[in-house]
Amino acid sequence: MAHLLSVDPFDRHAVERLFAVARGAEPVARRRKVCRALEGAVLGNLFFEASTRTRISFAAAFCRLGGSVCDTTGFTFSSMAKGESIQDTSRVISGYVDALVVRHPERGAVAQFAQATNIPVVNGGDGPGEHPSQALLDLYTIGNEFARLGKRLDGAHVALIGDLKHGRTVHSLIKLLSLYRGLRFTLIAPAGLEMPAELCEAVGARDHHIETRQVLRQPLKDLDVAYATRIQRERFTGEQPEGYTADFRVDKAFLDECCGETTVLMHPLPRDSTAGANDLSTDLDADPRLAIFRQSDSGVAVRMAIFATLLGAERQLQGPLRDVTWRTPSAIGPNDACSDMPSASIGA
Ligand code: ASP
Repeated sequence: MAHLLSVDPFDRHAVERLFAVARGAEPVARRRKVCRALEGAVLGNLFFEASTRTRISFAAAFCRLGGSVCDTTGFTFSSMAKGESIQDTSRVISGYVDALVVRHPERGAVAQFAQATNIPVVNGGDGPGEHPSQALLDLYTIGNEFARLGKRLDGAHVALIGDLKHGRTVHSLIKLLSLYRGLRFTLIAPAGLEMPAELCEAVGARDHHIETRQVLRQPLKDLDVAYATRIQRERFTGEQPEGYTADFRVDKAFLDECCGETTVLMHPLPRDSTAGANDLSTDLDADPRLAIFRQSDSGVAVRMAIFATLLGAERQLQGPLRDVTWRTPSAIGPNDACSDMPSASIGA
């Protein structure tokens, strides 16, 4: 793996290999052990679009591997505001750092960064294109949740909900999930915001069952995962989705009435908490089926594994690691019921 631009190059084996490295990174990501595998290395974190989780968790992952981070956010304070090309920016920054994470509002722009450099480039989200590290951490989270629940991914029923047209996380995730066998997908989107047809065709061609619908509040039989997404208004080009009403809100009533007792509820975050946004409700925050913070916590271990793999330092995560020397909380958040679950292989 020279770069991580898309999930396309992954097969099941490559996914499992990366997750094995992530499992080795867990004690470091969870602040029990210290690792210096990337001591002396520098990450360039270039975010030309809003970000909290992706930017900070990539930076934290690199720092927890012993490296350090230089970053820039937005176009305003970068030389792109002076008309510099992607190629020049990429080549110049590559002279300063050992790896790049780039987020850009245009599909394909991060691949252009990769073409202009020999250092590894990670796609931190390219417009409505892909978000491969998010999909990998989503799949890793599903693996952890299924291990706890004694479920397998082959044959699972997964519902993807919300803005499936512009949501890059679901574009990458559906491709990764389709590496497994015999999945049932229910794609629930308001009219006009459906999953792109080419993605549905590619997944259908792999022998999975896809059902699409525009109404959220109907039973989802034997549902294993409900993956909700934010409406991506910043990417709208004239769309006015009329079906996106309060009935589309994923809340406790929906989970209780239409899903099951062991349905895992995920969301890539951020959830839009503004009035009328109809995004994932906070009335689920104490419900153990809500996996959103376990999901975001997993981002650090998975992103550590991505860097360790791209920079050839995986083995150092297997070796004996030093204990941390500072005081750390036993659970990260006050409501964390199971933030410290054992992680396991998805096929297990
Ligand atoms: N954080 C995710 C992304 O950057 C999801 C979102 O913004 O809704 O794509």
